[in-house]
Amino acid sequence: MSAQSSKRKSGKFVSPGERLGVIEEFIPDAGTYVKDGVIYSKVVGRSLLDLPNKRVSVYPLVHGAIVPKIESIVLGQVSSVKTQNAVVRIFQIDKKQLSSFFASILHISDVQLRYVESMFNVCRPGDILRAKVISEKNQIYHLSTKDKNLGVVYAFCSRCGHILELRRQGMHCPRCGKIEKRKTAPEYGKGII
Ligand SMILES: [Zn+2]
Repeated sequence: MSAQSSKRKSGKFVSPGERLGVIEEFIPDAGTYVKDGVIYSKVVGRSLLDLPNKRVSVYPLVHGAIVPKIESIVLGQVSSVKTQNAVVRIFQIDKKQLSSFFASILHISDVQLRYVESMFNVCRPGDILRAKVISEKNQIYHLSTKDKNLGVVYAFCSRCGHILELRRQGMHCPRCGKIEKRKTAPEYGKGII
């Protein structure tokens, strides 16, 4: 047994997409999936390492747990933004609050029908947005905000962190005066979550 695998223990809390091991050391079992030889958790739960039989599985925390599906309407918090896409942590699915989160991607081509120059004009880290799940291929959730009721519902100033106010000229920070751009949902600023 290698030093790395001997440190591993059963019962670790894992979330979807979390790395559990590689197929050279374990046989993937229930609640897991394999991509490029690496075993990942498919669900929120506790990892079970059956070392004598070299099996790894994940015991789901909640049976029939809510997972994003195509057409699900989700709420998520933006965790990082690049020019072409944003990573969003889904914490609510179809109005049901989750105990953990699912990582998802919003690509610039799925923001709106009109051309978008940069994702930094759509959302920024920390923002809360409402989106629709359009793909779950390879356990990667892809989002769209093309429907007119979807987009950012809470946005925070990238300079000082204060919540931004929606004004005619753009998103305005009442604390530091910075003006930014977002793709907002019609419910922006109305306190609906
Ligand atoms: Zn500010």
